Amino acid sequence: MAKKEDTFKKVISHAKEYGYIFGSSEIYDGLSAVYDYGQNGAELKKNIREYWWKSMVQMHENIVGLDASIFMHPTTWKASGHVDAFNDPLIDNKDSKKRYRADVLIEDHAEKILQKANKEIAKAKKRFGDDFDEEQFKTTNPRVVKYLAENKAILARMGSSLEKEDLEDVKALIEELGIGCPESGSKNWTDVRQFNLMFGTKLGASADSAMDLYLRPETAQGIFVNFLNVQKTGRMKLPFGIAQTGKAFRNEIVARQFIFRMREFEQMEMQFFVRPGEDQKYYEYWKETRLKWHMSLGLGEENYRFHDHDKLAHYANAAADIEFNFPFGFKELEGIHSRTDFDLKAHEEFSGKKLQYFDHELNENYVPYVVETSVGLDRMFLAVFSKSLKEETLEDGSSRTVLKLPAVLAPTKAAILPLVKKDGLPELAREIIGELKWNFNVAYDEKDAVGRRYRRQDANGTPFCITVDHQSLEDKTVTIRDRDTMEQERVAITDLERILEEKTSFKSWLTKLK
Ligand code: ATP
Repeated sequence: MAKKEDTFKKVISHAKEYGYIFGSSEIYDGLSAVYDYGQNGAELKKNIREYWWKSMVQMHENIVGLDASIFMHPTTWKASGHVDAFNDPLIDNKDSKKRYRADVLIEDHAEKILQKANKEIAKAKKRFGDDFDEEQFKTTNPRVVKYLAENKAILARMGSSLEKEDLEDVKALIEELGIGCPESGSKNWTDVRQFNLMFGTKLGASADSAMDLYLRPETAQGIFVNFLNVQKTGRMKLPFGIAQTGKAFRNEIVARQFIFRMREFEQMEMQFFVRPGEDQKYYEYWKETRLKWHMSLGLGEENYRFHDHDKLAHYANAAADIEFNFPFGFKELEGIHSRTDFDLKAHEEFSGKKLQYFDHELNENYVPYVVETSVGLDRMFLAVFSKSLKEETLEDGSSRTVLKLPAVLAPTKAAILPLVKKDGLPELAREIIGELKWNFNVAYDEKDAVGRRYRRQDANGTPFCITVDHQSLEDKTVTIRDRDTMEQERVAITDLERILEEKTSFKSWLTKLK
């Protein structure tokens, strides 16, 4: 079995074993692509949401929050284009009966070609060492030039065919590239069809008066329809942003890869309203700012890359993804889109209400342009969780499983462990908990030998273990053990709060952003 698949299986089983993620309604054999977050998962998810919220809303004078409903007037989705254009091109394999997204099949094929180029580049880098000029190599090595050109041509043709709704050409491309069903290898494909991703439902009890509604497929529209409410009541001046986190629903054709692609998921979105003409500037600004936010978590800069879109959504004039190196390769984690004035203008048209801003400096009314940052909370969870899970071989040859979650996000910040269950040590440990729990999530653990308890907390992702021993009774000191370095230090009990604050607070982590 490939190593990547192995790692991913470990991530899924660890998430279940340690109370992070369970399949939904498991006792009824589960529901495809729907998941529940357990006792630890709920905390990690809440901490990621807060890390985002604080960095976006609390740290920016000109960004405010919103909490709009999941149900919206159905015309919203006509105006936004979702009724007509929120489709995925799907294709079925006639032999294996498996259904795929045609664009994903093509993108995966193009990615394989790109990987060939990257392999050549890595080989050359090794051979030439410090003298290696990557840019020059990319433009002169015949094999690399060919791979890069092939990759680009495939994506460009797919982009333009999808834009023109030329689904026949999308199928032709799959056939020309010789793409087979990933499961069976069969090349016996149906035509490509469009499939709308919105979930429909009904509002109201009686059949005649019931209204057809959709579960929102993105949180953004709740922000657009409230643009003037917030701008007027908050007396906001351009440029300013509205941020929101909340559930979104998509009837994904191929929901797979655990919580990477779910049918019910949570988004963290921010719409930044700007003067027309300043959109490119803020698009670049938010691309950089969001990448820095991700990197502040210390999961490794090499695990992020930008992917600029060839195929633009119906509302965008520029779009890029921040891709992350998931256990199954680089995939989209966050989207940054320059949405122009498309949404506000469409809502003006469909509602008949003006959604304009009076710019005192220019002395004119206009519909602002919008730059959006949109990240999936569950995808962020998967990124953080999968990169944190490590198998380490220790100096004595033994191994440990450790979940090196960024301390600011860890569900439990410290476990307090009395060395033995007697002599007043449990009581002192409880006293310490009584103080710390006002500001930190802390746990108590007295079962088994202390070494085993350390291992349990390592696997659980707890960054610090505080051990109360007999010396603690005499001089009011304890040892604090760091999960990652496994080093222990003796510190005064009265210093614990300050130490945990320094190591786990939003301030210590977010100041790295500057
Ligand atoms: P993809 O191409 O992977 O389907 P998208 O481009 O449709 O994603 P957007 O509409 O830009 O995604 O949504 C913004 C973010 O929401 C994505 O970057 C992703 O993190 C998250 N997201 C989108 N769809 C899902 C899903 N089905 N499950 C979990 N997260 C999702």
